[in-house]
Amino acid sequence: MSGHIVLDLNDKLGIIAVLLGGKEVFVGFDDEFLQSYTKAAHVLRLRSAITNRPLDRRHSKRKPKVPQAFSQAMIHMDAEFGKQKRIVWIFKDSSLSVKIKKTIDGLEELGRTLGYPRCCVEAYDDDHTRNTELVYEYIVTKLKARDDEEAIRILQGDPEIRLPLLNRVPESAKKFPFISHIACDGCLSDEKSESSTLNQRFRDIAVAANIEEKILASVKEV
Ligand SMILES: [Zn+2]
Repeated sequence: MSGHIVLDLNDKLGIIAVLLGGKEVFVGFDDEFLQSYTKAAHVLRLRSAITNRPLDRRHSKRKPKVPQAFSQAMIHMDAEFGKQKRIVWIFKDSSLSVKIKKTIDGLEELGRTLGYPRCCVEAYDDDHTRNTELVYEYIVTKLKARDDEEAIRILQGDPEIRLPLLNRVPESAKKFPFISHIACDGCLSDEKSESSTLNQRFRDIAVAANIEEKILASVKEV
């Protein structure tokens, strides 16, 4: 084996941003690259920790309009999925371990710990709320669940459910190629938004790391 570290460009940028102080903490979500993330942290003398993935589905802003038992079943499935997934945290300052622990325990929102704008974190949470509603709707109308119990049984069978992709995902990648979160509608339509400021900050870091052109080229393929 050579000493080569294989990582996605945006992951590289995130780790370099931690090194240069442009970001407090980076999370590598791709289990396939666990070794590469920790190796990169080691080479750069940064701290790293491997944990389970915290819960995505929180519904802190708005509860989904579905039966409560159905919503709970979805949260439970997400939590179980998170237990099987391992993620790598990379950070410089040892005091961040406390914040990371709180995030794993569900006391801090992952997006906030990662420095994403509050507006975008709330929009992401709302996406999950909407997703819960769409899944329920699909199971009732397309898969013909006759009551709540049957709807939950179908859900737990992990059926194939086709839902429309969010437009914000490609829009965000095109408009702000250097950020690692999905920008909210407000950020997408405002030149002076927090996402725009972050994008500029990470672009500067990408320029410094000589990977700006590569990142811009990869976004063209989205
Ligand atoms: Zn935003």
